[in-house]
Amino acid sequence: MAKKYKRHCAFCGQPEEEAGPLIQGLDAEICTSCIYRGYQLLEELSEKAPQDKHNLPLEGLDSLPKPQEIKEYLDGYVVGQDEAKRYLSVAVYNHYKRLLQTQSTEDDGVEIEKSNILLLGPTGTGKTLLAKTIARLLKVPFTIVDATVLTQAGYVGEDIESLLTRLLQVADYDVAAAERGIVFIDELDKIARKGDNPSITRDVSGEGVQQGLLKLLEGSIVNVPPQGGRKHPDQKMIEVNTQQILFICAGAFDGIERKIAHRLNTRIVGYNSPGAKHAQLAEEELMKYVDARDLKSFGLIPEIIGRLPIITHLTPLHRDTLRMILTEPKNALVRQYTKMFEMDHIKLKYTEDALDAIVEKTMEQKLGARGLRSIMEQVMMEAMYTLPSKKVKTFTIDRAYVEARLAERVEA
Ligand code: ADP
Repeated sequence: MAKKYKRHCAFCGQPEEEAGPLIQGLDAEICTSCIYRGYQLLEELSEKAPQDKHNLPLEGLDSLPKPQEIKEYLDGYVVGQDEAKRYLSVAVYNHYKRLLQTQSTEDDGVEIEKSNILLLGPTGTGKTLLAKTIARLLKVPFTIVDATVLTQAGYVGEDIESLLTRLLQVADYDVAAAERGIVFIDELDKIARKGDNPSITRDVSGEGVQQGLLKLLEGSIVNVPPQGGRKHPDQKMIEVNTQQILFICAGAFDGIERKIAHRLNTRIVGYNSPGAKHAQLAEEELMKYVDARDLKSFGLIPEIIGRLPIITHLTPLHRDTLRMILTEPKNALVRQYTKMFEMDHIKLKYTEDALDAIVEKTMEQKLGARGLRSIMEQVMMEAMYTLPSKKVKTFTIDRAYVEARLAERVEA
């Protein structure tokens, strides 16, 4: 006689008497606790998914921020610099489009090429801040690297390929994700050749690094050391294709105004228009006219310039802009200090005059907005030290207070 079949859960093996009611499938049964465990597992997986956003395919343009939305987001954190913001927003949006195109199976023969960007502008005007702010919004891996640490192979410093190590790290070593990322290279001007004429100059180191960088910019398969630094023979390398990686380069390019002025003047003479309009342009006005020729005379090799088709500039920050930077951005310095004192139940106030005094002092330093923070720290140190122990409810910072604190520092 055939043994009587005992119904049991096909997943955990428990018989029906112990597992409780079983749900019948085609040729197996499952108990309710296994169904519940399966459900929990699915929930856990879907919670993890958003953190893994870099690895997901982009879902289509509708799900991505439009250039105007990207710019509006940047407006919340970076004051002014409208042109640079617009260029960046469009570049990022187009980067998404290009990625979507490579994901798509349709092939109409039109291949969208990437347009790497070059941001020029004096120190402390918001180049890095723009990059950091945009990073928060991006749906692809993003990293900021400094060109000054790079050397060509054979010299002390880091190999050029190590630029991509950080990108790999941000992408949790998911090569496919890193290959769709964005790399921000700061201080590009520091690897310029010193001198316009390669045959005269002995300084080839900058050029060597540029040649190496060119390989990355133009798109090739490179061997990346997984831990960065210098390559060594028995290290296992990771192959990364840079074809789709967007590069945003930035630099102060100190003195490039003179090259622009020189070029414009020659042209004016050439066209016989003695209006001398350009000759009188202020230095910052000249930056509007910057183009590939000036970058070449500054010491970038033409091939690199060719790979940076979008050139935009950031303007120096004037009194009014610095004043706005103190109070307006979402994490403006004044807001930060006010919040810190709020935690001690002290209402902090700044008079208009006090803010003017802080801006005046910052202007003297010529460090752009970079100087604001250290001046603010000098002004606030005394209050941050004494007030938490005092039972004050409000504290007002006026011009006299600012000047007294700054004078103390000078004397010390
Ligand atoms: P750089 O142009 O040298 O890269 P940063 O972006 O690092 O300058 O700016 C230094 C600091 O100055 C930033 O952390 C930020 O607080 C402030 N800052 C500079 N420019 C702006 C700006 N346009 N809007 C708001 N804050 C700014």
